Amino acid sequence: MDNCIFCKIVRGEIPAEKIYEDDHTVAFLDINPASKRHTLVIPKKHYINMFDIPADELAYVMFAVKQVIAMYEHEYGMKHVNIQNNNGTLAGQDVFHLHIHVVPKWE
Ligand code: AMP
Ligand code: ZN
Repeated sequence: MDNCIFCKIVRGEIPAEKIYEDDHTVAFLDINPASKRHTLVIPKKHYINMFDIPADELAYVMFAVKQVIAMYEHEYGMKHVNIQNNNGTLAGQDVFHLHIHVVPKWE
């Protein structure tokens, strides 16, 4: 997807603070964070949202979400976190490349 901002992050065409990467996924800090270390986890392949992504690809994304949570628990002592995902305009989706928000809640 030539004009997808998250595909550009995957390809390294625009900067992002990547905090995790594997063969199937990338995680990077949200540019407009709701909290410290607000992170977006995305598949490297372009899927619009939950309606579009096959279950086996989604499993890779959720594996990466768990890696990010474990990393923040280990590195920063994170103990509270919201996991959020918006699908479709009426649900508040602004970027149409599937992403899972990891929003730590700090004391
Ligand atoms: P949503 O409203 O669920 O589609 O969330 C889109 C998220 O992407 C928002 O929290 C934005 O702050 C974030 N975002 C948009 N562009 C970038 C970018 N270039 N780098 C990091 N985060 C971004
Ligand atoms: Zn994309």
